[in-house]
Amino acid sequence: LKQVYQFDEGNADMKNLLGGKGANLAEMTRLGLPVPPGFTITTEACMSFLNTTKELSDELKKEIDEQLSLLEKKTNKSFEGDNDLLLVSVRSGAKFSMPGMMDTILNLGLNDETVEQLASLTEDEAFAYDCYRRLLQMFGNVVFGIDMQYFENYLTFYKQKHGVKLDSELTGNDLKNIVIEFKRIILEIKKKPFPQSAKEQLYLAIEAVFHSWNNERAHIYRELNHIPDDIGTAVNIQMMVFGNSGNTSGTGVAFTRNPATGENKLFGEYLINAQGEDVVAGIRTPEPIEKLKNDLPEVYEEFARLAHLLEQHYRDMQDIEFTVEKGKLYILQTRNGKRTAQASVKIAVDLVEEGLIQEEDALLTLNPDMISHLLHPEFSKVALEEAVKVSDVGLPASPGSAVGKVCFDAATAKEWAAQGEKVILMRQETSPEDIEGMIASEAIVTSRGGMTSHAAVVARGMGTCCVAGCSELEIDEFLKRVVYPGGQLNEGDVISVDGSNGVIYLDELEVEVTGTSHYFDTIMAWAKKHARLDIRMNAETVSDIKTGLYFGADGIGLIRTEHMFFGAERLIQMRRFILSNSYIEREKALKVILDYQMEDFKEIFSTLNELPGVIRLLDPPLHEFMPTKEEDIVLLAQEMNVSKNEIERRLKELHEVNPMLGHRGCRLGMTYPELYIMQSEAIIRSAIAMKRETGLDVTPEIMIPLVGTTKELSELKEKIELYLDALMEEEDINVFYRIGTMIELPRACLIADQLAKTADFFSFGTNDLTQMTFGFSRDDAAKYINEYVSKGVLPVDPFQTIDKDGVGELIKTAVEKGRSTTPNIKIGVCGELGGDPTSIEFFDDINLDYVSCSPYRIPIAYIAAAQSTI
Ligand code: ADP
Ligand code: MG
Ligand code: MG
Repeated sequence: LKQVYQFDEGNADMKNLLGGKGANLAEMTRLGLPVPPGFTITTEACMSFLNTTKELSDELKKEIDEQLSLLEKKTNKSFEGDNDLLLVSVRSGAKFSMPGMMDTILNLGLNDETVEQLASLTEDEAFAYDCYRRLLQMFGNVVFGIDMQYFENYLTFYKQKHGVKLDSELTGNDLKNIVIEFKRIILEIKKKPFPQSAKEQLYLAIEAVFHSWNNERAHIYRELNHIPDDIGTAVNIQMMVFGNSGNTSGTGVAFTRNPATGENKLFGEYLINAQGEDVVAGIRTPEPIEKLKNDLPEVYEEFARLAHLLEQHYRDMQDIEFTVEKGKLYILQTRNGKRTAQASVKIAVDLVEEGLIQEEDALLTLNPDMISHLLHPEFSKVALEEAVKVSDVGLPASPGSAVGKVCFDAATAKEWAAQGEKVILMRQETSPEDIEGMIASEAIVTSRGGMTSHAAVVARGMGTCCVAGCSELEIDEFLKRVVYPGGQLNEGDVISVDGSNGVIYLDELEVEVTGTSHYFDTIMAWAKKHARLDIRMNAETVSDIKTGLYFGADGIGLIRTEHMFFGAERLIQMRRFILSNSYIEREKALKVILDYQMEDFKEIFSTLNELPGVIRLLDPPLHEFMPTKEEDIVLLAQEMNVSKNEIERRLKELHEVNPMLGHRGCRLGMTYPELYIMQSEAIIRSAIAMKRETGLDVTPEIMIPLVGTTKELSELKEKIELYLDALMEEEDINVFYRIGTMIELPRACLIADQLAKTADFFSFGTNDLTQMTFGFSRDDAAKYINEYVSKGVLPVDPFQTIDKDGVGELIKTAVEKGRSTTPNIKIGVCGELGGDPTSIEFFDDINLDYVSCSPYRIPIAYIAAAQSTI
């Protein structure tokens, strides 16, 4: 089995085997781009290494040696010998890009002797020793696990002591001293000298990259991004080119379009006379790519040409890493660039307009969940007028408006967030160790580093607000404070951060929802066109309904009527209804509630303007309506003209040990039919009123919840129909209505064929169905579900993403059975899963008619539905 491929043997389709980086290096080589030659060790080799002895097998070593010889021939350089020196980089690269998660080693092959050789060959001692000290540092860190700080601290100390500001001002002699110290650090901490054999360095480095697949940062990133644990990483061994060889050399990172806004213009950063990680690490603040036009005009032209070529070839915005060695440009990496939600819609629309891709392709480039960031609120104009600025010099690295408490380390961020606090993580710069704290934060603020620093890239990837390189902040992580031009912030102080312009404000600013853009509207129109599923909303207030309609909802999938019982006066009447033993009392209470409900329904119907709306009859356990406070009980007793004791006695009577499995849903309708009849009457009277007053033809869809037996449904439906038919006859007017049922008990799924004979429609209540199927209480399960997910007992939280094997199978059964008796029965989903992209794909695949979700998730649902159809 072949485990090593030269770059010219692969192509872009081999990502499984060569990793994303390796496959693209191969593709670029094939396209004839200036890529330093090299070879890739496959992901399969990595997995077999990790699954067996965790040592490089003789076989693999032999193959590596052969490919290395081939590389020596190609480059006419020698890795261990005495000709022109071949140095290499050892670069990890999994199938999916995992920024900053795995480690890279540069200048590998140098030792005490060859560094001298390199110095004389290049006639540049400073350069040679700079390469060597970098190798010691990276090798020490990645292979021997020595904390980078040991090296960094010494470097800073040395520069201070000798009055040197920039790394590039260090002389050959300085760097020689630093190399001696670095070797000493390695020996002291690792108790082993830095290996002088180039081959040994190479083998150890490869093993380290293999092992890094299992480091904690990598695990966390994979969990966060749903990347499987068993696909491994490839290792790329590539001839070094040197960006640190003088003032016509340099290194940089650029996007073919602006990853924050989507603007079609090269966007990036570079550093002259620097190597590799210097740009991303935020150690020196880099220059914007346009400046390269002045520094090295020909290189800039060439780069712009190649960037365009790569974008045309991959038909998507590219994120490109490059290095210039003495005026010669090399491309070291390309991949589809990560971008903000705002940029993603603009780029998708632009690429279609430029004729590079089709609408369908454009929709597929979008991450539905990211779209929600577009709909996020901004700081209100009024609040901004009065706001006090902390700083406005930071870079707008990732948009969003965040408010939270300042903290200075990832652990605190995580801890506070777990307690429900909103936190803002402030650091000089971030590194992969901070990942968990970054996930937990509302925003990330750094004082160093550019638009492509670790903080910026990771924040954009997660859609988290970020301001980077805010250089006027003196962030002291140790003393836990920030000194800014106008004052000082301490841990726990509240600030507001605007990631779209880089401004930071004191205190909490009010937020408001923003409008959408031409690009967003275009995307939504395409999504609607290509989605097979209808998307409805779960909503009952006029403002929510308007929001949903604005986003293109096809109607309402769930109107929860219980919310209509909660106004002060209504609640009293509801309590009176529940707690009274007398039929007359109950009728009186219902009469008052009926009037209220009619007002609500009329409002809903007129806002919906003939779009369909499913109204669920009262569902929650009665205890949710009960008074608990002494004063409320007294008030109710007065209203009902009974003693306080009497109320308390009734409350005890009604107490349930397990209310969620108790007297709720249609069981209420069975014991108090007048309740469901009153609600149905309110619905139909409102529809009649609409018809008479405005001419709107409303077709209410009345939904009976928590049905588990055919009798429940048939009895209730019959009673309601009898009543409504009499009512319409009396009113001498006809409105069309449907009565359907919610399917949220496993038993209901299994008798769906019988239910479908009676029900006019089905709607899956996925929250309850999940709860009842797993026997997980929705209200208390978070604790152990999170643990289950992180330990792999469950692949996902079934309340967030459909459990296909269990709940999904029940739903499928119900759909098949239901349609076996009533082929055209309309079937939808309401509940949390209706807004989750993975679940939507499942619902589309089993041919439901619609999903329903909260108004703000409608755009996400549309895109997910379109992607599923495409
Ligand atoms: P990451 O996945 O963290 O981006 P890379 O493998 O891309 O790591 O390496 C990081 C940087 O190191 C590259 O962007 C490039 O600047 C530098 N680098 C890697 N290989 C070489 C090489 N062969 N010659 C010069 N620089 C290199
Ligand atoms: Mg890279
Ligand atoms: Mg329910």
